[in-house]
Amino acid sequence: MGDSELRDGLRRYLEQRIAAGEKVRLLAPTERASGAGGIVRTAPPSAAARTAPAADPKAAVAAGDSIARVAAEVDKCTGCRLHATRTRAVPGVGPANAGVVFIGEGPGAEEDAQGKPFVGPAGQLLTKIIESVNLRREDVFITNIVKCRPPKNRDPEPDEVAACEPFLKRQLALLSPKVIVALGRHAGSWLAGAPESMAALRTGVRTYEGIRVFPTYHPAALLRNPQWKRPVWEDIQKVRAEYDRLSNES
Ligand code: URA
Repeated sequence: MGDSELRDGLRRYLEQRIAAGEKVRLLAPTERASGAGGIVRTAPPSAAARTAPAADPKAAVAAGDSIARVAAEVDKCTGCRLHATRTRAVPGVGPANAGVVFIGEGPGAEEDAQGKPFVGPAGQLLTKIIESVNLRREDVFITNIVKCRPPKNRDPEPDEVAACEPFLKRQLALLSPKVIVALGRHAGSWLAGAPESMAALRTGVRTYEGIRVFPTYHPAALLRNPQWKRPVWEDIQKVRAEYDRLSNES
């Protein structure tokens, strides 16, 4: 193995450990000379640390983080196996001051090809849902739980979600939207912090970091189950009402 392959392999390994929430510190040459090795694990990763964001999202904002910076990191990410099969990573689109954030599950074939979320058939339906309450697609932020396409559109694995969630947490901290719309069971369960059925997710008042969350059926599921049109219609009306209420307050 050549030097550059070794360097690339080491970089990928470190990125994966960091994405998994582990803290690593590179030693200065003098420390290395003392025989301590090249990498120090400063704290053993607890189960909680593995699923925690790599950086505190609020601290990241304070440190001058930005939506563009998150996107640039997503584009280069090799933090889980999904990077190996993607065509393009799909960080998300929308203005940095969007008041409404839509979160899906993960990119499909069209999204993987274009590097943009919700551009296939489900995306066209999502646009109609957004416009049905007089919002404009270009005014909202649209992203996914995982930013790279799971092969054959399978569900994302828990370790893939864990590797990707620091990006979503940073995006939400930076955007600080008035409302979040969780599209489907995966996004709803991630925001709720535990797996739940869609029916359960739609009951009660849900929040994420103090932000109102409205879980609703995923547009792809809606394409297969037109009987869910009414509940989605009711949900998006509530989104609009809450958005208006909060906008009038500020
Ligand atoms: N389904 C999703 O969950 N996200 C997309 O971006 C496209 C389809």
